[in-house]
Amino acid sequence: MKLIFEKSVAGRHSDILPKCDVEPVELSARFARTDAPALPEMAEVDVARHYTELNDRVHGVNCGFYPLGSCTMKYNPRIDEDMAALPGFAGVHPLAPDYATEGCREVLETAKKYLCEVSGMDDMTFQPAAGAHGEFTGVLLIKQYHDARGDKKRTKIIVPDSAHGTNPATAAMCGFEVVNIDSAPDGCVDLEALKNALGEDTAGLMLTNPNTVGIFDPNILEITRLVHEAGGLCYYDGANLNAIMGVVRPGDMGFDCVHMNLHKTFATPHGGGGPGAGAVGCKDFLKEFLPRSVVMDGEGRIQVRSFAGNFLVTVRAVTYLLTLGREGIPEASQNAVLNANYLMRAIQGSFDLAFDRTCMHEFVLDLSEYKKETGVSALDVAKSLIDYGMHPPTMYFPLIVHEALMLEPTETESKETLDEAAAIFRKLYELGKTDPEPMHAAPHHAQIGRPDEVGAARHPVLRWQKPEE
Ligand SMILES: *Cc1c(COP(=O)(O)O)cnc(C)c1O
Repeated sequence: MKLIFEKSVAGRHSDILPKCDVEPVELSARFARTDAPALPEMAEVDVARHYTELNDRVHGVNCGFYPLGSCTMKYNPRIDEDMAALPGFAGVHPLAPDYATEGCREVLETAKKYLCEVSGMDDMTFQPAAGAHGEFTGVLLIKQYHDARGDKKRTKIIVPDSAHGTNPATAAMCGFEVVNIDSAPDGCVDLEALKNALGEDTAGLMLTNPNTVGIFDPNILEITRLVHEAGGLCYYDGANLNAIMGVVRPGDMGFDCVHMNLHKTFATPHGGGGPGAGAVGCKDFLKEFLPRSVVMDGEGRIQVRSFAGNFLVTVRAVTYLLTLGREGIPEASQNAVLNANYLMRAIQGSFDLAFDRTCMHEFVLDLSEYKKETGVSALDVAKSLIDYGMHPPTMYFPLIVHEALMLEPTETESKETLDEAAAIFRKLYELGKTDPEPMHAAPHHAQIGRPDEVGAARHPVLRWQKPEE
């Protein structure tokens, strides 16, 4: 497919623009560019076709099953989009005076009230633009807390080896030394390893529960108690909140601050790189350290992003919370857990389960034995799924399982879809045993087969450049 720049024809245009209704301003020469920007020149119909063609090349939740573990790629109700598109929300200027933004502030207050209720926290900021950014903000709260007490010896953050890569990265970016602890054989926190890691230099622990293998840690109260006893604080990575919202609360598990990926759990479509929101909640004793918008209230506290973050993501979250309500929120979680267990048991008997026990919202397959036997890897199976109209699950994560495929069906999938998905997994399992060769080259019917991911990461080409004339 050609880039829109390559389709450009000099002089072609579709200029049905509204009349300019503000006074033109003469820019000083200092700001004016000397030559015109190389924008594509196209007729309207060709622009429409270009974007439709792009759209046809994408697999999204609207096209088919998308069981991407650790990411909650769920169907987001259309009403959430409708609310985010209301002109009063979509067109608001961040510097508009208070009297003109009362509705927006009510959205933020409502979001705070309900998300604090869901997470068991007392206060919240909506500045962070993603989960990783929320982690950064939350761990800075922990750092400020220790600093404010003059407790300078707390230099270490404990992170289990099953954690999402953003956890250790966050701790390091906040200036902490990362202490990795091995998981117990059941994928949960190893209490002995935790006890050994804890000490006077512990600033805190970062944990997601249910963890990245989809298991709710039964020792969670003991874990947070041990960290507190050592003088550290507990940070909850809320990316897996879809499994427990409205049922149990991180605040009640003993966590002091959390982030929630509003774009995962609370109805903003994601996967294309944004925009997201990593709302950060904390207990009362940390709220004095929360970032505030310097522009809004002039208090001069830390600020991790301008104004109120990606505000329209919060609008969607509020809509989602209000439409589901007190009964619907836990029901969504319960269905997510039920669907994951149903799919796991429907696949069982073919590919090995990494952990053969009741799971939460996601589960992990372990293909290491299967690969030894057939030569077919987790990558081959993932790529083969594309030919059946299914988005591959997360591959090779978490790192504690080799040849991992991690599936999260979410609450919105029907029994028929889950049955169909399980049948495809079983079929591929047999295929790998009888005719593995084509699987090494899959997908065979997709627009893009196996791109050079290493090359793309090492030598990214991020910008079209006009060829020399
Ligand atoms: C997605 C995810 C994150 C990071 O969130 P982003 O919004 O992608 O920055 C952190 N932890 C876990 C367990 C996740 O699944």
